[in-house]
Amino acid sequence: MLLRLRRGTPGPQIDSILALAKDFGYRARFLDESSELLQLEGQGRPEHCSRFEDCAGVEAILDPGDAHERHERAPGQPDTVVHVGDAKFGGGYVSLIAGPCAVEDLGRLLEIARAVQAVGAVLLRGGAYKPRTSPYSFQGHGEKGLEFLAQARAETGLGIVTEVLDPRDVACVAEVADMLQIGARSMTNTPLLAEVGASGRPVLLKRGFSATVRELLLAAEFVLARGSTRVVLCERGVRGFDKTTRNLLDVGAVAHLKRVTHLPVIVDPSHAAGRSELVRPLARAGLAAGADGMIIEVHSAPAEARSDGHQAVSPEIFAAIAKDAVAIAALDRRTVVALQASVAGAGPNGAR
Ligand code: PEP
Ligand code: MN
Repeated sequence: MLLRLRRGTPGPQIDSILALAKDFGYRARFLDESSELLQLEGQGRPEHCSRFEDCAGVEAILDPGDAHERHERAPGQPDTVVHVGDAKFGGGYVSLIAGPCAVEDLGRLLEIARAVQAVGAVLLRGGAYKPRTSPYSFQGHGEKGLEFLAQARAETGLGIVTEVLDPRDVACVAEVADMLQIGARSMTNTPLLAEVGASGRPVLLKRGFSATVRELLLAAEFVLARGSTRVVLCERGVRGFDKTTRNLLDVGAVAHLKRVTHLPVIVDPSHAAGRSELVRPLARAGLAAGADGMIIEVHSAPAEARSDGHQAVSPEIFAAIAKDAVAIAALDRRTVVALQASVAGAGPNGAR
């Protein structure tokens, strides 16, 4: 590892950097006369870079050496493939998640679940706990919503992706969810990230709407540091200056993330677009940029949806998006995963 220290760093600060290096088992030596370039020889660990960055005298880590953070793709490291029920994300596999923004009534949920299952979804999305901008908006049905999701899995064989908002709810949501979703508003909630990381369930981590790519990766690091190995990142658009679209889908971030991390990356064109007619083109763009999957809001009667109806696509449009996905994935020999689970055999948790 190679550190650059600030010019004129006082002696006591240099001493504390050297003491930390010693604690980590490094042999340290300065490469220049002005004691600015500090070379550390020894076995790097994921936590070392952040610890040195926190030292007042460290200006930059010029070379992390083998002190890779857990999310980082080491040279030549293949994609991590995250399995969730029948879904596979990464390593040339593309999986589609679809469903309503919020779990509404059971009949509606089953209707949407059957419709998306028939045309290519492998996982069903739907919020039982909804993070809303206004406290007076529909907040989701909570535990009742989780029961509806469990029934939808039993009926369709689709695995369940649903959001958890509160660290105290992780255990109960994880009983039903095949994949725990951390929403954009929760990306910096580190107690929640830690709890979800310790749950053993796969995690869908959405990028905060004003989070940098580095902040997203460090949020993933919180989950990975708690023992999770199954984290999927989601680009869902960041806030821009123009209200034409709800958010700006950062396809550059998708392409970049596919290089710097071994974790799978998916896109959410629904929350990026904010308008149903833009979801299909954005879905195409995200997949073409290298995304390993998509999460799409689908509703059978968008006008009656209790949240985000304006961005929900019909099952027919979702079917077209799923067809596009097959064609776009084939361009670089990737496969869109199909549902295998026998519907009759899939009881609660059967698809995990
Ligand atoms: C969602 O996917 O249900 C959601 C609320 O999205 P986001 O957290 O990206 O706003
Ligand atoms: Mn939504």
